[in-house]
This record gives sequence, C-alpha cells and structure tokens, in this order.
Amino acid sequence: MEHYEDAVLCIEIYHSRRTWVKAQEFLVLGRQTLTELRDNICCATDQVMQKAGKHNPSGYILIEDVFCNDLRDPSAIDYSKPIFDWLRNSKDDALEKWECIISGELQQKQKALLGDPTISRLPHFKAVDMHKTRFCDLQFRLGAGYLYCHQGDCRHTIVIRDMRLFHPEDVGDRAAYPILTFQLKSRVQKCCVCKIYRATKVTVDDKWAPENPCYFCDNCYFLLHYSEDGSLLYKEFSVYDYHHE
Ligand SMILES: [Zn+2]
Ligand SMILES: [Zn+2]
Repeated sequence: MEHYEDAVLCIEIYHSRRTWVKAQEFLVLGRQTLTELRDNICCATDQVMQKAGKHNPSGYILIEDVFCNDLRDPSAIDYSKPIFDWLRNSKDDALEKWECIISGELQQKQKALLGDPTISRLPHFKAVDMHKTRFCDLQFRLGAGYLYCHQGDCRHTIVIRDMRLFHPEDVGDRAAYPILTFQLKSRVQKCCVCKIYRATKVTVDDKWAPENPCYFCDNCYFLLHYSEDGSLLYKEFSVYDYHHE
C-alpha cells in the first residue's frame, strides 16, 4: 500500500473488558508508524501497572498475519516469539486449532459429507518492529478486527474503519496527528466480584483474584482478603486505593 502515505485512516480502539464498547477513535496518517498510534492509546491498565511499579513497555499489534512488536524499550519482550516457537514445534496441533478458527458450520458439514480434500495451511505469520512499520506498509482490510495486546494480556480490538485521501478540509499540520476524535467518558469501575458496588480498591498480581489488575468494592475486598478476626489471609498481592479514572 505504498501509494497510501497520504491517506487518512480512521482507527477505533475498543475497551479491554467491555469488549463491545469503543474507547477511543483516532485519525492517523498512512505514513505514521504504529508506535505513534500506540503511544496515544489510553488504557487504565497502563496507569495501574505504573502505580504498582510493574509497568511493562512490551506490546504488539497483530494485523492480518503480521505481528508488530514494540521493542523500543531495551527491556521489552518479543511476545510473538513463543507463538512462533509453538507454530514451529507443534505444527499439527496449530493447524488443527487454526482450522477450528476459520471453518464455520457449513465447512464442518461439507467436511463431514465429502471428507477433507482441501489441505489447509497456516498463514505465514511474520514479525516486524512496530516503530519501523507504517500503516501504509501493511495490508489490511477495512472493518476487520485486529488485536492490540499490552501489559501481559490486556487485549483490545482495533478496527481500521475508514481510509481516504488527505483533503483540504483536513487539519493541515501533519504533526498534529494522530488526532483523537472520540474518547469514551470515564466510567466508574465496578467491583469485579459483586458487580454492583463502585470499586474502591485495585489489586495487582493478586494470587486469588479473577483478573489482573482486579477491582473490588470495600466489602468484597475485605471478605476476600481478611479472615473474620481481621487478619490478612494471604499477602501475595499489592493493593491501591482506586479513585475512578
Ligand atoms: Zn489495555
Ligand atoms: Zn463488591
């Protein structure tokens, strides 16, 4: 897509937990690198991990079959490596899983009726450096859901909704891009246990919590972490007061 350096892309970022909710929308130039977008994505997990001193600079965006790894920080981890190792070492297993993902009900029925004449292949996954990859270097489909993963396993769907040529009504200062065109109003996090009350505490690396970071109301936090006589049940976690975003 080299001709699309001058394109303006409209890109949507979805919420990591309420996955159907759009969190942000940007106008990005085709000539911009994926890190320029990444640095503008705002996710509460980043802030919580920062506060806990567990901030991890690694991350990747998977667009079609290309892993774009953010390796700018010397301590960043190449998240795609274990996936490539797995693809190499357990090819049959990977192929079977891949077929399950891509084949719908109809294909399953055809397969049952006609046997399996087609030998499917795994896509040729590639890995590139996020900060050296521009949107115009990639092949993508408008409206398809792609993946942004950071802080271990905080996952967001990314959708390239629209693409058009730069025109005179666009903001002329190219340094102003990516331009934020939509931001979800911050909502109070609810307690992940009762799902009723506002969260007042957030824990990180909490051995018995269902999520990481995990949000609790006062009541559920104390029920889960303290015994009736008020002694702490376990100490494998860090806890912070949570004031909503
Ligand atoms: Zn996130
Ligand atoms: Zn609760």
